[in-house]
Amino acid sequence: MYRIVIIGAGEAGTRAAFAAREAGFSGAITLVGAEPHLPYERPPLSKPLDGAVRMKAICTAEALAAAGIDYLQGVSASRLDTGHRFVILSDGRTLAYGRLLLATGARPRRLACPGADHTLDFRTYADAAAIFSRIGAGGRVVIIGGGLIGMELAAVLRGKGTIVSIVEAASKPLGRAVPPRFAAKLHVRHQKEGVHFHLGQGIGEITPDAVVLDDGSSVSAGMIISAIGVLPEIALAQAAGLATGNGILTDAFLRTSDPHIFAAGDCAAVLQPAGGHMRFESWRNARSQAETAARNMTGGNETFSALPWFWSDQYDLGLQVAGVPRTHHQSVVRRFEESELEFYLDEGRLVATAGLGPGIGVAKDIKLAEMLIAVGVSPDPSALADPAVNLKTLIKSARAA
Ligand SMILES: Cc1cc2nc3c(=O)[nH]c(=O)nc-3n(C[C@H](O)[C@H](O)[C@H](O)COP(=O)(O)OP(=O)(O)OC[C@H]3O[C@@H](n4cnc5c(N)ncnc54)[C@H](O)[C@@H]3O)c2cc1C
Repeated sequence: MYRIVIIGAGEAGTRAAFAAREAGFSGAITLVGAEPHLPYERPPLSKPLDGAVRMKAICTAEALAAAGIDYLQGVSASRLDTGHRFVILSDGRTLAYGRLLLATGARPRRLACPGADHTLDFRTYADAAAIFSRIGAGGRVVIIGGGLIGMELAAVLRGKGTIVSIVEAASKPLGRAVPPRFAAKLHVRHQKEGVHFHLGQGIGEITPDAVVLDDGSSVSAGMIISAIGVLPEIALAQAAGLATGNGILTDAFLRTSDPHIFAAGDCAAVLQPAGGHMRFESWRNARSQAETAARNMTGGNETFSALPWFWSDQYDLGLQVAGVPRTHHQSVVRRFEESELEFYLDEGRLVATAGLGPGIGVAKDIKLAEMLIAVGVSPDPSALADPAVNLKTLIKSARAA
């Protein structure tokens, strides 16, 4: 029986290790993780309870042992020898593999302006602990980047009474992944909560206590956090000669250009049915790709076809997006008292949906909409817009048809 080696003990790597066992694999599984902790979830880092950083472990040491997963904590893979199929580790050991999973995730993009070293990143537990141990009421924080992570962090910091400014190069925050309707609503909510926005602004320079903007103005800060997105961690794959682009390129089976090596999660750019490779940065994507990769590494032959989905919590609001809304899609809005759903149709066919409302209020409808998308329906837009029409009935009639 061959050994499975998994590099990266984040959401994807850890889930893959357990999923390989669930698939009946009885050989050795080694999980190599650079961070000095048990595997943990990243989303709770930007959603701390009572303002305290939460380390939410994905599994216990006992669960790893019970599943026969050998976890090498605080050890990184330094090099791959794909010809002889072994991995060289930072502690000098070598590990032979029959199948290898690259689940190396992503790392924060760095600013290129003078003084960039004065900023803190926000990706790991150590980053979060460093930030939250130093902030409090009345402190001033500048967050560079008005994307999901920057906006979530702003919401948490406002909750602690911190004075928060967001500097964003685009003219609006949340422009990348969030549908414009909900990006605008979240922007307004942040303004009401007192977040100061500096939009359409590049950074001239960063000093230890201020961010100097392109227009010459400066925003003072006790702490400056860079949240300008992430880059896929592809260095190992590149050095080993695997095909890479905006991620480690895989086919639809999550196999890289080397048939013994798979990739999953934030580092993987997966071949799409319509051509091209797509990389997603979300918790559920990391888990579902890991499960498919694990089954394929243990004898399965499954294409990865899960609908992209992510959520974000800001203040008391929960956002969920399923599928990939595009500007050319027809959009249909369904309004409730406190929340809204938006459906996206491509030539009449439902392809994506999003919702925003208090707590997890939109979760049930988003789940039903995901089912509708899976059925492949072209629903009547007026039925989608009407809150009195239960989405379950649309699923039933689509199935009957
Ligand atoms: C603060 C924060 C909040 C988030 N909130 C949400 C949310 O609300 N909703 C949502 O859908 N998604 C959210 N995400 C995104 C989600 O957490 C990620 O998409 C997910 O964690 C990706 O999992 P991964 O295993 O692919 O990568 P990662 O979690 O990045 O794990 C990769 C691991 O591999 C390790 N590694 C890298 N190279 C090596 C090597 N050579 N040797 C050994 N180990 C290595 C890294 O140290 C890391 O621990 C959030 C992310 C962050 C940072």
